[in-house]
Amino acid sequence: MTHAQGLSPQLAGNMFDVERIRAEFPILAQTVNGRPLVYLDNGATSQKPRRVIEAIRRYYESDNANVHRGLHALSERATNAYEGARDTVRTFLNAADRREIVFVRGATEGLNLIAQSWARPRLQPGDEVLITTMEHHSNIVPWQLVCRQTGAQLRVAPIHDSGELDMEAFANLVSERTRVVAVAHVSNALGTINPARQIVETAHIAGAIAVLDGAQAAAHGPVDVRALGCDFYVLSSHKCYGPTGMGVLYGRAELLEAAEPYQGGGDMIRTVSFEESTWNELPYKFEAGTPNIAGAIGLGAAVEFMTELGMDAIAAHEREVLEYATERLDELDGIRIIGTAPEKAGILSFVVEGVHPHDVGTIVDQHGVAIRAGHHCAMPLMRRYRVPATSRASLALYNTRADVDALVEGLHGVKEIFDR
Ligand code: PMP
Repeated sequence: MTHAQGLSPQLAGNMFDVERIRAEFPILAQTVNGRPLVYLDNGATSQKPRRVIEAIRRYYESDNANVHRGLHALSERATNAYEGARDTVRTFLNAADRREIVFVRGATEGLNLIAQSWARPRLQPGDEVLITTMEHHSNIVPWQLVCRQTGAQLRVAPIHDSGELDMEAFANLVSERTRVVAVAHVSNALGTINPARQIVETAHIAGAIAVLDGAQAAAHGPVDVRALGCDFYVLSSHKCYGPTGMGVLYGRAELLEAAEPYQGGGDMIRTVSFEESTWNELPYKFEAGTPNIAGAIGLGAAVEFMTELGMDAIAAHEREVLEYATERLDELDGIRIIGTAPEKAGILSFVVEGVHPHDVGTIVDQHGVAIRAGHHCAMPLMRRYRVPATSRASLALYNTRADVDALVEGLHGVKEIFDR
């Protein structure tokens, strides 16, 4: 990830006051199975701070109306709030223009939109789409679909055992046939932070577009789409402390202008007749129908929350907790961490010798610790490591060393049961 400068003014001299931050998340103050909740499933979805919940409540209590249509006061307030969220996201990603910020349902919809609206009309037999072994199904299947529709070929760049992308093999797979390179900014199952700038540059030299799946990146460090140079970037609101059913597609205006609409309906048109319709300007061309207004407002509040804390400070805090967690897990016998790249975000995938990950998840839940177990929507990656599944602890800005200690205690519980 690109790193901006310094801590935010709020945190300068105050360091990362994690207890104060935790108090902003009402859900964390509960017990599960008689133990204080330790939430380590942030890769799946993050919890929501009070201000996000309040922003959504306030919208429904006082401003609810449809956007872009009504001339009445409520509709004007709803439109301002919805469009204000777009400006907030534009600043967050450092996009050049608010027209480049399209609100979608999530990272999944963003990737499908790129595949269908930009790639489908352009790909031809002989063309190639290049992804990597570590992709989430959301960055595999949309490309498989469009390859089937167009006769293009899906190519896959391999990874090293550490979970780092094999950059030499990647570069060798990029050729004049490559039209699209689509790579996770951060891997959801390994935590690897990919060298996104280098990937984008390699794609561009060959004349391909570069798509970054930022679902696991955007909440964990600064993202600057112009510094990255990418053509498209997607993120999910619900992994960024915002509501579900909401996401962002960033696309360079030139590419969005040239792309076909994704869905037809209200708001995305300029004129409609039975013979022919014409399209609205960006970004509305891609926002057919009544959008997720409350979702956008909630995401806007979440982005403001993260920005105030400072993305560099969040990254530094999570890195510190990750280092501690890695050390603690390394001390345990019979545990293998999957994904040991030097550049890692706060994701710890592991297998416990002789114990199915689902059993690990169930037992640590008895200790109040929420982790995930499964293939993490990355079946080809599991195959690469010859495991059916892993257990995964994934960090957010509110996690602490004490959370890691609770996980380790839960893992001792697993070993006690299985060593009997
Ligand atoms: N890409 C990655 C790397 C992810 O981790 C996820 C969510 N697990 C997605 C894409 C899809 O995100 P969503 O389900 O929110 O659309």
